[in-house]
Amino acid sequence: MSTLPPCPKCNSEYTYEDGTMLICPECAHEWSAIAAEAAPEGDKVIKDSVGNVLQDGDTITVIKDLKIKGSSLVVKVGTKVKNIRLVDGDHDIDCKIDGIGAMKLKSEFVKKV
Ligand SMILES: [Zn+2]
Repeated sequence: MSTLPPCPKCNSEYTYEDGTMLICPECAHEWSAIAAEAAPEGDKVIKDSVGNVLQDGDTITVIKDLKIKGSSLVVKVGTKVKNIRLVDGDHDIDCKIDGIGAMKLKSEFVKKV
């Protein structure tokens, strides 16, 4: 039994390998075996300051005072933040904090509750 994936174009099961390429003998479609095995999107794991895996909807607390750029507001250590949303980027948590509003935090400065 072949473990190769079927042709993405015509679904033929008779695909074969040629180096790093996969080839379909029925429609002559060629594609990269490496790309076909790439990890699915959303595989990135974001962890808090102590290594807990964070997920959308989690509640976290802030582990150090965080100054908000361009304002005099400070998110105090211990501030509880509900219903976080994970995003890509340097600041990987999107959230809304009572009394402050929508802002972004870094996962290294929070701890899952
Ligand atoms: Zn094909």
